[in-house]
Amino acid sequence: MGRQKFLDDYGLSRSKKYFIELPDGTLVDSKPIISVALGKKLGTEPVRGFVGGAGQAKPKLEKLGFKVIALSESSVPPLSISRRLAGPDLPRVGETYNNRSQVKLAYGGDINAGIIRFPGDDIVNVFSDATGPYADEPPSLVKSFGYRGAGLVGPQRVESVGNARLERARLEGAAVRYWYRPKGEPLSFVSWVVVIGRSWTNGPDIKGVDRPEIEWELRTVHSRSPESWPEDLFEAVDSATEASGDVPSGPEATAHSTYEQLLARVEALTPSASGREVVRVNLARSQAARRAVLLRSEGSCENTRCTGMPADRNRKGQPILDVDHVQDLALGGSDHPSNMVAICPNCHASKTRGDSVRWRREFAKVARTAHLSAVASARSQDEGR
Ligand SMILES: [Zn+2]
Repeated sequence: MGRQKFLDDYGLSRSKKYFIELPDGTLVDSKPIISVALGKKLGTEPVRGFVGGAGQAKPKLEKLGFKVIALSESSVPPLSISRRLAGPDLPRVGETYNNRSQVKLAYGGDINAGIIRFPGDDIVNVFSDATGPYADEPPSLVKSFGYRGAGLVGPQRVESVGNARLERARLEGAAVRYWYRPKGEPLSFVSWVVVIGRSWTNGPDIKGVDRPEIEWELRTVHSRSPESWPEDLFEAVDSATEASGDVPSGPEATAHSTYEQLLARVEALTPSASGREVVRVNLARSQAARRAVLLRSEGSCENTRCTGMPADRNRKGQPILDVDHVQDLALGGSDHPSNMVAICPNCHASKTRGDSVRWRREFAKVARTAHLSAVASARSQDEGR
């Protein structure tokens, strides 16, 4: 009969903390249910006035086989957010909730998993939190961006529930809802995204242990309808699918890979100029190139005129550095460490918002020099052995 009608029919008020979770993820008020049940057993009106919560109602309901969950006071939504059915039109882009529990009360689903579907809805949702266990970076609205795979501990696997959902969306070319929560702000359904592809990288799990991790490459789109998607997005999806490197054992996914190993990987995955096939997006190659550049930087901004890096650290405890293509990939720049620099967010902002022509010239020199000296030092170490 639905949550509201049940409460209205019996003249009961909503639960403040304890809810029964039904198998489909729906939440219903715990104390009203047991009030009615007791009344039925005794052949009376709903039994009122007993103490609910952890003391009485919760253990009784659990004994009867119900799953009872406790929500913090702040996450219990007003009745106006009663359960709705998610679908192509709901949630709407921009819908905002205080937290995952409120999303669950509105649509169902799981409050912990990063990649979920709502009950009765086929569309995949990915959740990203700037303060979550992964300290995710904000999404980019203008180019593709990374989203770390599901799995907090141990090697990540494509077959695990959440990743398998996203993999299916990738293979089917189905749009996915992207939810993001900036630090200290509410959670919103920010945009529809398309899964361009995935690659393997290396990262510590939440226990700090090195492991292969999946890096999903996502790109925002204006709507979930493929007719509205730009032509180059389809090309990117096709070439990422064609590209090899679908194994978690490449140097890009292994701890302690050297600049030489990463460079060899980049070059092995670069199609020869004479080749017929033009693979523009090879995510394994990009990942290897990124790691090579970060390794080369030794944790310092590569801009020789850097005026100071931010003191904050990323989730790996490393200084915050952006890996930037000097010549944009989209404008024909190569996905190779000799065209890439690791720069701090301050210098990155200077390049993006300042005199970008001058900075591009400057960083081209920086990238070439840093690349050649990394290669030379690797060579001299080899000879010294
Ligand atoms: Zn800098």
